[in-house]
Amino acid sequence: MPVRKQDVVTHGPTRGAEIDRRSFLAAGSAGLAWAGLGGAIRNVHAATPPYSFRHGVFEITVLSDGYFFLPPPGTARDVGFLYPDVPRAALETFMKGIGQGMDRVQLPNNVVLVRSSSDLMLIDTGAGAGWQPTAGKLVENLRSAGIDPARITKVIFTHAHPDHLWGVANGDGALHFPNASYVVSAAEWNFWMADDVLNKVPENFRPFALGARRDLSRIRDKLETRNPDDEIVSGLRLMATFGHTPGHVSVEIAGADPLVIAGDVVANAAVSFAHPEWRFGIDALPDVAIRSRQRLLDRAASEKMRLLGSHWPYPGLGTVERVGSAYRFVASN
Ligand SMILES: [Zn+2]
Repeated sequence: MPVRKQDVVTHGPTRGAEIDRRSFLAAGSAGLAWAGLGGAIRNVHAATPPYSFRHGVFEITVLSDGYFFLPPPGTARDVGFLYPDVPRAALETFMKGIGQGMDRVQLPNNVVLVRSSSDLMLIDTGAGAGWQPTAGKLVENLRSAGIDPARITKVIFTHAHPDHLWGVANGDGALHFPNASYVVSAAEWNFWMADDVLNKVPENFRPFALGARRDLSRIRDKLETRNPDDEIVSGLRLMATFGHTPGHVSVEIAGADPLVIAGDVVANAAVSFAHPEWRFGIDALPDVAIRSRQRLLDRAASEKMRLLGSHWPYPGLGTVERVGSAYRFVASN
């Protein structure tokens, strides 16, 4: 255990973290400004084949939306921003131990397609062209898999961050999934669409808020807000996993053992299974997020539940084992 409990500050971001957060502003703006600049790199993940499996009455397919970096291109190359309470030396030791540096992390962006007898449903829409040039490949990979985006009947959002929402439309605002209805949690809608949201988020997260308002507005006439535990179709329901964003939900899919599409409850598998108690710099409500993370991982370890994470090694499907007070991800594919 590289970090002693007493070394972890559990209240309030450090001054250093505030500075890092400011540098992240440039990142968000860069993310917006980078739209359309990624042609050369864009094909790297184009050929990632879909990964499909049966689960109960559902057929689940994971599609790659490409990948992205945190902190984003254009900002300081320093993962300290992501784990602001962990003493630098301890973080360095930990990252070295998992074979990673202090530069930045590269995360895949996995998007889940669920086929039922009545519906073809996407859980999140990937990043679109506006986030980072290596992401936003969902539509291309859907087409490669022989799936016309016009056939999608429902889109369920785990939350309204760029890498999950901004793929809903192209740069001109035309919807990629024109025949779908959309589901977002009421808490998520209420947070991002509140008139004063720009005053409530740190300055460097304003591009996230502006993007959420832009894209949620684009689908407002086709969107319904739902609550945790609501069933969206028979056997598929929302689960409250608030904290990463104020209304972040997971999607529980019934089968012999439960399957939970966990979104960003654990954003970076390499770090947060081993240290679920570490605050994550992009969580809006870090302490709430830690409780959601620990609750879900504890349940998954006890119930033989399978989890699928948006940014875990593709296709992101696996089970959870307990290791002392922490956890280990065991990939299923
Ligand atoms: Zn994400």
